[in-house]
Amino acid sequence: QAQEERRAAHKPAFTLDGRRVEVCANVGSSAEAELAAQAGADGIGLLRSEFLYLERASAPGEDDQHREYQASIHALGGKPVIVRTLDIGADKQLPYLPLPDVANPALGVRGVRLWQCLPELMETQLRALLRVEPLESLRIMLPMVSEVAELVEVRRRLDSVARRLGLAERPQLGVMVEVPSAALCAASLAEEADFLSIGTNDLTQYTLAMDREDPDLAARADVLHPAVLRLIKATVEGSAGRCPVGVCGAAAGDPLASLVLVALGVDELSVEPARVPAVKAAIRRLDIGRLAAELPALLSLADAAAVRERLSAWLTTER
Ligand code: PEP
Ligand code: MG
Repeated sequence: QAQEERRAAHKPAFTLDGRRVEVCANVGSSAEAELAAQAGADGIGLLRSEFLYLERASAPGEDDQHREYQASIHALGGKPVIVRTLDIGADKQLPYLPLPDVANPALGVRGVRLWQCLPELMETQLRALLRVEPLESLRIMLPMVSEVAELVEVRRRLDSVARRLGLAERPQLGVMVEVPSAALCAASLAEEADFLSIGTNDLTQYTLAMDREDPDLAARADVLHPAVLRLIKATVEGSAGRCPVGVCGAAAGDPLASLVLVALGVDELSVEPARVPAVKAAIRRLDIGRLAAELPALLSLADAAAVRERLSAWLTTER
C-alpha cells in the first residue's frame, strides 16, 4: 500500500468531492528540492533560503546563491518553486550580521523588516533570484509581513532591480501570513500579492503568545486552537477571488490539521518531502463538504484539545 501511495503521489490530488489541492514541499536546499521532486511534490511551497546563510563566516555572494536557486528550479522541471527571502532574527541568528541586541527578538527586526537595516544584503538576494531561468517557475515570498506597505515597498525594489538587469518579465511575489495582523488584513494583502501562504508555526506563536521553542508550552501551542483556525478562515475569506492561499507551516503535514485546512478552503499544502505521498492519499479520502459542515461547531469549541478530540471522533465515524 505504501508503494501504491508513492506511485500515486506523482499525480494531482483531488478530494472525494472533486477539489484539487496542490501538495508541495518545504525544503532548505537544492538537494532537498531533488528529494521533493522524486516524492511527487507539485512544486516547492517554501524554500527556506536562510539555510544558505547559516554556518558560514560571511553572507553568501550573489553567484553562490544564484547556483542554489537555479539548481532548485532545475530539480522541479517547470513546477513552481517558492523561495522565501532571508528570514533571520528571533530563533534564527547569524553571527556575521549585526542585528540590534533587543529584549524581544521575536517582536523585533526580522523577516521582511530586514529591508530597513540590511537593504544591500536583501538586494543581493533579489538579484541572485531574478537571474534564474525560466523566471516563470520562480515565486518570491516575503516572511513576517505585518502590513501591506512592506509588500508594496519590496515590489518597488524588485521592479527596480529587474529593470537594471534588463528583464521584461517579473516573477510572482507573495507574502507569508504568520502574524495575526496579516491574517486580519488579508484582503488588502491579497489585492497586492500574487499569492498568500500561511505560516502556521509563527501564526500559532503570535496568536497564542506562546513561544514556539518553549518545551513547557509545546502541548498547548497547537494550530488547532479555535483562535488560530478563525484567523486562517479570515485569511481565506479575505483573499477570496483575489489570489490563491497555501499553508507552509508544520500544520500542513499534520494528519488532523491538514484536513481542517483543506476544509477551510486553502488551495495548497506544503509539507516535508517525505510526507507528500501520505498527504495526497489523505486528501483523496476526504469529502470536503462533509468536514466543512462540521467547521462552525469546531470553531466554537474552547481550546485545541477539544478540537482534536471532536475531529478524531468525527473521522472515526466517517471511515
Ligand atoms: C512558519 O512560521 O509557519 C513557517 C513556515 O516559517 P518558519 O517555520 O521557517 O518560521
Ligand atoms: Mg515563520
